[in-house]
Amino acid sequence: MEKVENYTYVVVGGGIAGVTCAEHLYILHPEESTLVISASALIKAVTNVLPLTKTLDSFDVEERRAEYLENQCPSVTVIHDAVERLYAKEQCVQVSSGRKFRYKKLCICTGATPKVIAQDNPHVVWIRDTESVCQFQARMKGARRILIVGNGGIATEMVYEVTGIEIVWAIKDQHMTATFIDPGAAEFLRSELSKEKVDTGGPSKRQKYTVDQKERVSSAMGGAMGGAMGGALGPDWHSGLELRGSNQRRVTLEKEVEVREILEPDKFRQSGKELTRLSEEEADWPVYVELTNGKVYGCDFIVSATGVMPNVDKFLMGNNLSQGEDGGLLINEQMETSEKNVYAAGDACTPGWEKAQHWFQMRLWTQARQMGSYAAKCMWASLSGEEIYMDFCFELFAHATRFFGYKVIILGLFNGQGLEGKYEILLRYTKGMEYIKCVMVDGRMQGAVLLGETDLEETFENLILNQMDLSSYGEDLLNPDVDIEDYFD
Ligand code: FAD
Repeated sequence: MEKVENYTYVVVGGGIAGVTCAEHLYILHPEESTLVISASALIKAVTNVLPLTKTLDSFDVEERRAEYLENQCPSVTVIHDAVERLYAKEQCVQVSSGRKFRYKKLCICTGATPKVIAQDNPHVVWIRDTESVCQFQARMKGARRILIVGNGGIATEMVYEVTGIEIVWAIKDQHMTATFIDPGAAEFLRSELSKEKVDTGGPSKRQKYTVDQKERVSSAMGGAMGGAMGGALGPDWHSGLELRGSNQRRVTLEKEVEVREILEPDKFRQSGKELTRLSEEEADWPVYVELTNGKVYGCDFIVSATGVMPNVDKFLMGNNLSQGEDGGLLINEQMETSEKNVYAAGDACTPGWEKAQHWFQMRLWTQARQMGSYAAKCMWASLSGEEIYMDFCFELFAHATRFFGYKVIILGLFNGQGLEGKYEILLRYTKGMEYIKCVMVDGRMQGAVLLGETDLEETFENLILNQMDLSSYGEDLLNPDVDIEDYFD
């Protein structure tokens, strides 16, 4: 008879969600065995956690060998392999080497894969894991112009990080970085677009991502296992990388467009299409891109940064797993999927519970960590017969990052999400210094965008959470002469 190895908990994925889940299972249930199956050779470790506010932490993220997790958590075993099949009725998973593992509780934390335009086109690159970063860095050497497609955090960071190169930035929205900020904040940042990045040499103030060059290569190879990808990168994926082309920096923003066609040089010449020129002397380019506004740009290569899709296909066959509209595994408030004893966390899942007024899912590092931790608690509680309540972090959406060198904090319904335009905006704006926007409904704060060193995140977090009536303050709420922190902290 076929040998099946038994574990109490099996966690699939060595990214932030999976590793956090395994760590918390060890804390909660150290006497029970946990197996982590990771398609990437290196796993992600969260270190130096510092609370910024009640719902927002700053932390370092490092790529570590599997032994790190095993040493920290002796009841955890890590294997480097990829799950090929889930047999939910038998409570068992099979990996590509043929081994089978039976679980009492399973957590799927397999992340997401990039939605890439023209994936098989050799002129298209994308950034997701260590392997793709290495490829991107190699392509940058000697490049004169790139065309970046996408308007989220990765595209925005890339526009800022690459130097000595012409960039055509094609976005489908009316303003840049629309996933994270409103048109006003985009205007605030727009003047920074054409500036070369200033290397302050100072320490990074946010989550730090460290990768050893040797490990990059072995991780990249590991990432290829079973077709599964390595873990998604995160903040500071670019630190320590030389992302320099061989031209003068210049950014051309093309709004409300998508890519219509990618043309090889021969095809472009035969097409008779007119080239959009950015300078008097247009060289021959390795590839040409026609946008939906009819403009055709030549470039060295195209970067696709157009979002991600949950990476869950391997688990679907023969099982009854419900998926959300975005393809993620649908989970309830106990992080359970529609299959018994199967949980999911991080980029791979889609919350199907009735969400708190000011929280929504965004596939971010912070949420992967929060969900991984909460999923562990739910699995443990279910096995031990304990009652637990939904974690407080799901009360308020909060995210901290940096765009164009500015600290960016976004809280709650920062873009008026779900308010159907029925809200007022309070704004404070000092060019080159800070941009503060509050979304207000009936004098109560629903969300906020803070750019620059405002130090208002904690106060605003409280105001959104406690829904205090602020009508009497009117516009003075953002009056720089009124010290609102003292009022409300
Ligand atoms: P992942 O980190 O993707 O981990 C998935 C794991 O599952 C990997 O170990 C993978 O190898 C493994 N796996 C996949 N399939 C299988 C299988 N079949 N069997 C076994 N193992 C499998 N977020 C932020 O909050 N801030 C940022 O600034 C930010 N910047 C980003 C920049 C880049 C370039 C990218 C790509 C993402 C960025 N993100 C950022 C998003 C963030 O990285 C992800 O939301 C987060 O890493 C998701 O964590 P996860 O554990 O769910 O998935």
